[in-house]
Amino acid sequence: MNKFYCPICGNQLVEAFSIGDICSCCGNECGCDERIIRELVDGTYDKITLDTLNNISYLTKEEAHEYLRKQWILQGLNWKYNDCNEKPEAWNFEMARKQLTNININLDDYLDNNGTK
Ligand SMILES: [Zn+2]
Repeated sequence: MNKFYCPICGNQLVEAFSIGDICSCCGNECGCDERIIRELVDGTYDKITLDTLNNISYLTKEEAHEYLRKQWILQGLNWKYNDCNEKPEAWNFEMARKQLTNININLDDYLDNNGTK
């Protein structure tokens, strides 16, 4: 049987992450990864103005997932929504670490890079 995971946090999903779905764990919506402005992420601009509007580009899907994952990790790996009691009872840092391995992500790589360890 196929298993489906959120591409950002590794949360196991009932079905493939598709447009309109919101991951109850990291809170990201499928499709929200398509319009992340590269120049805002990399600091080229701190805001978009009419002058800069013609010079923007967007992160690729993979880069966007990476960016959103970093945000989620830096904000404390919190479980965001629990409308249907999906949140594991003992949700904690170690469970988040294990969940990320579902999508072959090593949490330690992020902690080292961000100096939060
Ligand atoms: Zn997620």
